[in-house]
Amino acid sequence: MTTIVWFRQDLRLGDHPALDAAIQTGADQGHIIPVYIHPGYAPSDQTADATKPLYEGAAARWWRHHSLRSLAERLASCGSRLIIRQGEPLAELQRLIHETKANRVVWNRRMEPAARAEDTRIKAALRAEGINVDSFNGNYLHEPWTIQNKQGKPFKVFTPYWKAVVAAGLDLPTYPEPDNLPTVPRALNSLAIDELELLPAIAWDKDFYNHWQPGEPGAWSRFEDFLPLIDEYAEARNHLIGTGVSKLSAHLHFGEISPRQIVRYLLDTRGSVLEPRGIEHFVRELGWREFGAYLAYHYPQTVDAPLDARFLNFKWRDAPDDLRAWQRGQTGIPVVDAAMRCLWQTGWMHNRARMIVASFLTKNLLIDWRCGAAWFMDTLVDADEPSNTAGWQWTAGTGADAAPYFRIFNPVLQAEKFDPDGTFIRRWVPELARLENKYLFAPWTASETALAQAGIVLGKTYPEPISDLKVSRQRALVHFDQIKQNT
Ligand code: FAD
Repeated sequence: MTTIVWFRQDLRLGDHPALDAAIQTGADQGHIIPVYIHPGYAPSDQTADATKPLYEGAAARWWRHHSLRSLAERLASCGSRLIIRQGEPLAELQRLIHETKANRVVWNRRMEPAARAEDTRIKAALRAEGINVDSFNGNYLHEPWTIQNKQGKPFKVFTPYWKAVVAAGLDLPTYPEPDNLPTVPRALNSLAIDELELLPAIAWDKDFYNHWQPGEPGAWSRFEDFLPLIDEYAEARNHLIGTGVSKLSAHLHFGEISPRQIVRYLLDTRGSVLEPRGIEHFVRELGWREFGAYLAYHYPQTVDAPLDARFLNFKWRDAPDDLRAWQRGQTGIPVVDAAMRCLWQTGWMHNRARMIVASFLTKNLLIDWRCGAAWFMDTLVDADEPSNTAGWQWTAGTGADAAPYFRIFNPVLQAEKFDPDGTFIRRWVPELARLENKYLFAPWTASETALAQAGIVLGKTYPEPISDLKVSRQRALVHFDQIKQNT
């Protein structure tokens, strides 16, 4: 039997149920063909339309390039070869089936609504042609349809959802990593990874190389670096400088390490993932990733529509200049600018920083959360439609388990609390580096002398704030109150 293993968001060899299934059924008699098919649509064509693939932004494409390279090396070290094709996935699979005489195709499931629609369509088409098609859970602890409330309905609130996941069990098996794989026929053509043109034409990615090592070995080394910190995670996770968190999100998004592997490792080495507090909290955060996928599965429309229907006709501000200032880290609010510049230069942003900038955009600037979500999808290396949608809807107050609409993060207080010595702001907004701490979080409150001593001219060397935080907070409250009155 020849089996095609279709790699997508699971760019690893360990705990890979689809690959394991291929090995179990006849690796000794036939071939296993590992394949990556790059969707052949231009990014501008991509929408949530069910027939089109998922949009992958520039930062994520950078990651994918290096992750594919790593996967190709790992497969080669097992005696196999990654076959790369580009085009409409069903047509490419049919072509490969024809070329290899494969009679089975296997993959690990994805949860994005457009990806699920694509997988369903491809599965039906291949089965109609007599091909065996099997899909597996390789990316989640528990898939969305297995967790429901007592009435058999999906949860909308995280805490009871997570309790149900814990009750369903976290002590889950993982699949072994193969040492050897059957060879891939020499005659089978593959594109070179470079031919996919995933790297940027203009080299804005220089800094990325200092921060990230995409691929399975990079994921494990990141996890190992984080392990000595895990007991402090519950407290340290909020510091904006980001040294207390794992930075595993992109590795998880690309499936270079699986949540089951992480939990398995912690269970084997620490005996429990429900205590002590640091471990429990970290594993619960993995639960938020699962919850994002859960919501995307049960409420697929929420990728670009508010889950809370009261917000369907909400009047967001059309303010392109403000949006641009936010994107470029030029709002004049230091913590917002630091976070947005960190995102631009590294492709990553701390979770609390994500909440602060999202609250500033949707509440203080009253700009549609979808504008922010789209910018994140383009600039984050961990851009993940379900987690991103859930994070934006949560902060905007339009989603499941949302922050109440009247909760508006005060970026000055947030910075004082979670960047008390100003390290984060000074690192990413160097033009403020010499400003005393008492003014750093709100430079517009500093005296002329204090500004001059720090070499700052507001409006010239650093912007005046584009929004008066008090006034815009009040405006948001009035605006959001209309929604309350409509209930
Ligand atoms: P850690 O704190 O070390 O957490 C470990 C893992 O748990 C993460 O790698 C991630 O997989 C998961 N996780 C932690 N917090 C969350 C959360 N709130 N929601 C979902 N998963 C979580 N995460 C993405 O992976 N991709 C996104 O596109 C994304 N967009 C976001 C947008 C907004 C507006 C917000 C508020 C959050 C978003 N998140 C997103 C969630 C979260 O900010 C990141 O997962 C986290 O900051 C990644 O850093 P880390 O790996 O160091 O996290």
